[in-house]
Amino acid sequence: MRSKGYAALTAKASLTPYEFDRRELKANDVALTTQFAGICHSDIHQAREEWGPSIFPMVPGHEIAGIVTEVGSAVTKFKVGDRIGIGVFVDSCKKCEACLKGLGNYCYENMTATYNSMERDGKSPTMGGYSDSFVVDADYAVKIPGNLEMSGVAPLMCAGITLYSPLRHWQAGPGMKVGIIGLGGLGHMGVKFSAALGAETTVFSHSPHKKDDALAMGADHFVSTADHSVFAGMKPEFDLILNTVSAEIDLNPYLELLKLDGTLVMIGLSGKQYPISAGGLLQKRRSLAGSQIGGVPELQEMLDFCGTHNIVSDVEIVKAEYINQAYERTIASDVKYRFVIDAATF
Ligand code: NAP
Ligand code: ZN
Ligand code: ZN
Repeated sequence: MRSKGYAALTAKASLTPYEFDRRELKANDVALTTQFAGICHSDIHQAREEWGPSIFPMVPGHEIAGIVTEVGSAVTKFKVGDRIGIGVFVDSCKKCEACLKGLGNYCYENMTATYNSMERDGKSPTMGGYSDSFVVDADYAVKIPGNLEMSGVAPLMCAGITLYSPLRHWQAGPGMKVGIIGLGGLGHMGVKFSAALGAETTVFSHSPHKKDDALAMGADHFVSTADHSVFAGMKPEFDLILNTVSAEIDLNPYLELLKLDGTLVMIGLSGKQYPISAGGLLQKRRSLAGSQIGGVPELQEMLDFCGTHNIVSDVEIVKAEYINQAYERTIASDVKYRFVIDAATF
């Protein structure tokens, strides 16, 4: 199937228009027309090889909302016309302990990422969502609730699930104090979910002008970290702090804000090392953890939760030709709060 999109041809190059072929439908596949594709900071990290060597040409994009145009002979889960979403992975081994628990994102034989990855055959590169069409195994797609606007849904497929999953895993809810570091694409979804789950939510941001937006999204408190002395006046009272920052930051002041048995979760992945004070962990039996997106059953649970609570991402819709500017503005923390590409412009 012929597909039109945008690709990075090398790590140094801007993204340019690119045409390529997708596989013909297998029995369990569905084809879709992309409507919107979100721009995640992970797209930028990988297009620029900030996480190590990448596969080029690269069509990035793993926040995809589209409409089913064709279904394979064995597909019963979807029909033509359904609104579906595709996230960060499109395959996994389906038989390891993690896959059997519905956690293909933690597959012991590694998930097949939506782009910058190889299919299970080990030789066909995957191509992502910055494109007008997509073919995917139906087991890796989810149904979008009818009341949600498609442009605001696309970012839920990565930014949304990546914050929903740790908030649920560490049982955020009434009586808990949750901190979200960074009010970007991931962080703003974290605020919305944490508030909807009933936790007392604090945003830590190095952009003081984001305060009003953070409070409007449901945050109870806003801490401007532009001035580092702010930490000195704070108490160790947080149950859970989620770090969504795309750059390396000093984690030690945040460890000090955790109460007894509190957890700091790494979500942002700068590709750099983070020095940790062991003393900060030992005191108050604190934990440092990590979390990577979420499994397909939880993706559906998250979308249904969004349908019930009317939650979508705050987006700036852009044309495909704006992708390179959108990258620069994302790096400068200058987006409210996710760029989404209108797939009709590919
Ligand atoms: P984003 O929209 O660019 O947001 C990152 C936020 O971090 C910015 O809005 C900014 O928030 C803060 N920030 C940026 N540079 C900073 C600096 N130098 N110092 C302090 N704060 C800074 O990025 P995103 O798409 O949300 O992704 C965030 C990170 O998560 C990326 O590294 C991405 O690769 C990673 N990620 C991980 C997973 C996972 O499964 N764990 C999934 C998706 C993405 P303020 O302006 O509020 O300070
Ligand atoms: Zn992402
Ligand atoms: Zn597996």
